[in-house]
Order: sequence, then C-alpha cells, then structure tokens
Amino acid sequence: MAKIHILDEHIANQIAAGEVVERPASVVKELVENSIDAGATRIEVHVEEGGLESIRITDNGSGIEPDDCGTAFYRHATSKIENSRDLFHITSLGFRGEALPSIAAVAKVELLTSHRDDGMGRRIRIEGGKLVVEEDTPAPRGTDIQVKELFFNTPARLKYMKTIQTELGHISDFMYRIALSHPEIAITLRHNENQLLKTLGNGDLLQVIAAIYGTQAAKAMLPVQAENLDFELSGYVSLPEWTRSNRNGVSTIINGRYIRNYGLNQAIQRAYHTLLPINRYPLAVLEVKMHPSLVDVNVHPAKLEVRFSKEQELYPFVEESIHKVLRQEVLIPQAVKQNIGGKNSSSFVQEQFHFPNRSAQGTSASESRAESAAAAERVQAAPDSGADREEGKARFDQAFAGSAPIQPPQSQRQAGAGMVKEERATGYRGYPEPQQRYTQSVNPELSRRLLESSADAHAEMPAFPELTLIGQHHGTYLIAQNDQGLYLIDQHAAHERVNYEFYYEKFGQPVDASQELLLPITLEFTPSEAAQLKDRLHWFEQVGVYLEHFGGQTFRVRSHPYWFPQGEEKELIEEMAEWVLGERMIDLAKLREKSSILCSCKASIKANQKLTEQEANTLLDRLGACRQPYTCPHGRPIVVSFSTYDLEKLFKRVM
Ligand code: ADP
Ligand code: MG
Repeated sequence: MAKIHILDEHIANQIAAGEVVERPASVVKELVENSIDAGATRIEVHVEEGGLESIRITDNGSGIEPDDCGTAFYRHATSKIENSRDLFHITSLGFRGEALPSIAAVAKVELLTSHRDDGMGRRIRIEGGKLVVEEDTPAPRGTDIQVKELFFNTPARLKYMKTIQTELGHISDFMYRIALSHPEIAITLRHNENQLLKTLGNGDLLQVIAAIYGTQAAKAMLPVQAENLDFELSGYVSLPEWTRSNRNGVSTIINGRYIRNYGLNQAIQRAYHTLLPINRYPLAVLEVKMHPSLVDVNVHPAKLEVRFSKEQELYPFVEESIHKVLRQEVLIPQAVKQNIGGKNSSSFVQEQFHFPNRSAQGTSASESRAESAAAAERVQAAPDSGADREEGKARFDQAFAGSAPIQPPQSQRQAGAGMVKEERATGYRGYPEPQQRYTQSVNPELSRRLLESSADAHAEMPAFPELTLIGQHHGTYLIAQNDQGLYLIDQHAAHERVNYEFYYEKFGQPVDASQELLLPITLEFTPSEAAQLKDRLHWFEQVGVYLEHFGGQTFRVRSHPYWFPQGEEKELIEEMAEWVLGERMIDLAKLREKSSILCSCKASIKANQKLTEQEANTLLDRLGACRQPYTCPHGRPIVVSFSTYDLEKLFKRVM
C-alpha cells in the first residue's frame, strides 16, 4: 500500500486558509479586493463583533455569472489570469484564486450576486466547505457576500483571536488604506451600529485623508507629483512640522495596491532628512504607478509585500521627489504657511469642503491672504508664542543659575509669565537639595558596571562622585575630573535624567496641579482610535489630564498640570494618547513612568548647546542629587569614566 496520497480539496482549502485567513481583517481584505477587481464604484462593509460574528460586503461591481458561482469557490479558480505569462503582468489585486475557497473552509458563507440588470441573480450558501443552497433569486447587479461565524470549525484559530477592539482595529486600519488607495470608490465601514468611515468616491485623495486623519492633518499636507521613464509618483506628504510618533501614518501604494515596503519607507524618511525631530514620523500617502512587469506581487500570500525589479532606481526617485517638495516648502515664508492649528472638524464623515490646492511653486494671492489671516489668528490665540525663543533662553539661563522662584498659580502666571519659566522647563524646583554626595567617592569601575546594567530607574544607587568641571566638548559632553580619574558626561542625557526624576515625582500628585485651560487644546484621531480612546479617558485623569470627547474624531483637553513643558503640551498629550492606545495592559505605574519620560525628553536641553561654567556646574549638582544618576530614562549611559590608572595604561606609563 502506498503511503503518500493527495489530500482532498476540503483539507487543502483549510490548509490554505491558515495562510490566507489569518484574522477577520484578512477576510475583509480579500473580499474588498474582489469588489475592487470587479470594477465596483461603491463598496459597503458591515462587520459585527470585530468581524468574528459577521462580515458583509456589498458592491455594485460586475457580479458573477450564475454558472460561475460554484466554480469561484474551487481552489485556484480565478477569472483574472490564464497562463504563466499573465503572472508577470498582474493588473488586478487578486489572481491566486485562493480567497473564496479558503474563507468558505473556515466560515459560513452566503453569496448573492447578479451580473445583469434585469433584477435576477443567484444565491449560494456554503458551510464548512459544503454547498448547502444554490438557487436563482431576485438580486440587484453586483455582489453581496456575507461571512458568518468565522473559524467556527477551527477552534484553535478562534482562541488565538484578540479582543473585538483589536480585531476591529486591524479591519479599520486596512479599510483606511483601501480608501486611501482608491479615492475614486465610495467606501463605507460600519461596525455593529457605528459608522467608522465614509468616503465620497469623488477621487479627491485629500478629502479621504481628512476623513481618516482629520481636517487639521489634511491641511498640513503637500502634494507630490513626479514622473520619470519608469515611474509615476503622486500623493501627499505632511509638512515637516506635522509629525506623529509612529510610522503608521505612512501608506505606500503600488498600482492601486497598498503594500508594506521597508525601502520605500526609508526613502520617505530620508527625504525629510533633518527636518524631522528624532523619533517623529510624517504622515504620507504615496502611490507609485509602474509597468506591472516591474513589480512581482507573487511573493506573499496576502500580497502585502512585493518585489521591485528596479528598486535601485525607485527609492532615490521617491526620495528626491519628496525632498524637492519639502525644500520648496521650507523656502516659503512662515507667514503664508497654512494654519495647521486651525479649525477642527468634529465629523469623521468625509465632508464636501474645499481645500486650497497647494502648489509647490507658491501660493496664489488670495490664498496667501487667507493664510496670513489664519497665521495672525494663530499668533493671537497663543499670546506668548512670538517670544518663545527668547523665553526659552531666559528659562534655560535661569534654570542653570539655580535661582528658582516659587511656582505661582495659573492666574498669576498669565499676568507675569516670566516668573514661571524655570519650573516648567527644567523642573529643578521642588527637587531635594543634593545630600551627602561629597561623603563617598565611587570607584570608576563600579560606575562603569552600573552603566552597563540598565538598572531599575528607582533602585537606590551609590552616591555620585564629587567632580570638578574642566570644560565642554563640542557643545555635547561635559569633561570633569576628581582624584580617581577623568569623566565624560553626556549633557543631554544628564538633563533628561534630572527632568525625569522631577516629573516622576510630580506625576505622583498630578491632579492637584491640573489647571483649567483658557483655550482648550483639540486633538484629532482616526475614527477607530477615537472609539478606543473614549473607553480609556479615565487613564488621563490619573495623570492630571482632563480629556473629553468632542464629537467624531475630535477630543478636547480641558486641563493639564501647569508644569507640563511649555509650548509642547499638545504634542506631549498626543504622544501620551498614542501610548495609551498602543498599550494592551495599562497600569498607573507604567503610565506615570512613560509620561515622565515624554516630559523629560521635551524639556531637556539638546546636544550642541554651549553651557556656561555655572550652568554646567548646576547640571552636575542636580545630576548628583538624582536617585539614579548613571543612566538616562531610556537606559543610555550618562557618565563614562577613565580611572587615573586606565589613563596611565593608555599612555603606557604603567604596564
Ligand atoms: P481571485 O480574486 O484570486 O481571482 P477569489 O477566490 O478571491 O480569487 O475569487 C474567485 C473569483 O470569483 C474571482 O476571480 C472573480 O471572478 C469572482 N469574484 C469574487 N468576488 C467577486 C465580486 N465581488 N464581484 C465579481 N466577481 C467576484
Ligand atoms: Mg480575490
């Protein structure tokens, strides 16, 4: 008896489903892609319970002929390619003929479709891979497919599913990418009774961006348009000042297909070069069109990854095209820049409003006027923004002079803004004075070991050695010495540590320090982020931030602790929100620590800043008073030391 046999179709499909149908979002992806391939101009997606209960997709595409309905559910059944030559010229999203049979192997599927305009069509029902109903029935032109009880016959996969919110997050993320890749299709997404996305299908990408990321974001976008012999690039990238703390805002599309590609992401990031702060990412939606023979889409079961045959040409082309747009933008004077902090939309439905079409060459006279007016309004709204730089400098000087005034309450702060600079920015006030730090010197060897272990931030450390300042190197490192040897101190890391400990203590009683804002800060999120955030608002209260839902995608900060780093409040709360959204298990200690790190990064001096001798000494004093003066909050070393013996060895004075 032969031992090897060919598996029957049903098992083969279940195996394929393991790859193709990873989670509800994969079903949505496959079905919506089928609708797009069928030429639909309207696609409605309705999911229940994160898609695990039901996924229903209705389109007005070509429909399926009655006799093809059963065939469509066979493995490798497709209308999109015929021979292996076609495989290298793919113009459709699907072509593997795997989606329908895979889905039908792990769920209950009902298909209603018509390819004619006479109101008749066919219905079929498949359960666990078996055809249970097939009948002619009235149906409008197009396809309506419903997938129920996903993974009902694969309990192991079902168990692996995360929360409904997580599954919904994947679905909406995918739907956003589809909407961004196809602004010409009217797309709706509903979850249970809530509408999460609605686009108009009028081809205006900027309006889709507004529907997903909010109108403020859309106003901060610059158009990109470029082509060469092989590629045609189009889309939008955000102004360098409009950034996010993660890469999720970057969507790359090749010939109508949303893909993930490291090289393209890097090219986009490089185009911004030094224009972006560290760890900040742009918002970008970019499509490259190229001849289908230049891209291999048959490298990934879900076709999320592709290979380019001319990647050496593609990446520099993308980078340079974006860079050109950004460079031109930087040359436009500040006063005519768009009002990024302008009015908000409280609706997540794509609206019929008009964005001035920004041209990279310049702005029209009327636009400039409108923008100047908006800029003027902005200046009024933030009375001290003009004096920011001066104030920052004064704040810094005062901090390092060590003469810290006592923090007045909010009302007085409005009147005498100059008085509060110190505490907000550097946070030395209220920090215990250095104690017994001169009583014990630390062995450089020990300090080095401490540096290597990124020890718990709050474990007690041996006291910091007494040091005498020698100077500053390249505006970045302080050089100091004592009897034991030579020390290099990263001034930014040191400052971050000092600030971190200050803020960590402050976050211990944030609520008492929370002050009502005269002008509330508004923040916008994607519809699915907004839905999740609504359930997590109580976490913000724990750290003194009163955030309220303001309708649709918009939230409003009513109050926050007065000691938040000045001028950075909005970005800070945005980053806190991104953390809160991304974290599966939030606890107060982690939230307090994360918030302190974010505050300290924002408030700290950067490298390449010359310090006076007094400032440098103050910094060393404050560092010495820290509980953990050896590593910055990110775990990087603050101090590197060479013992006198090390130096002697280096110079071969001893052997
Ligand atoms: P593929 O998309 O790779 O061809 P699928 O299993 O997803 O494979 O679909 C099989 C076939 O069913 C498609 O080739 C197409 O002819 C037909 N089909 C599926 N969904 C639709 C739809 N929404 N509208 C029209 N035809 C469809
Ligand atoms: Mg398909």
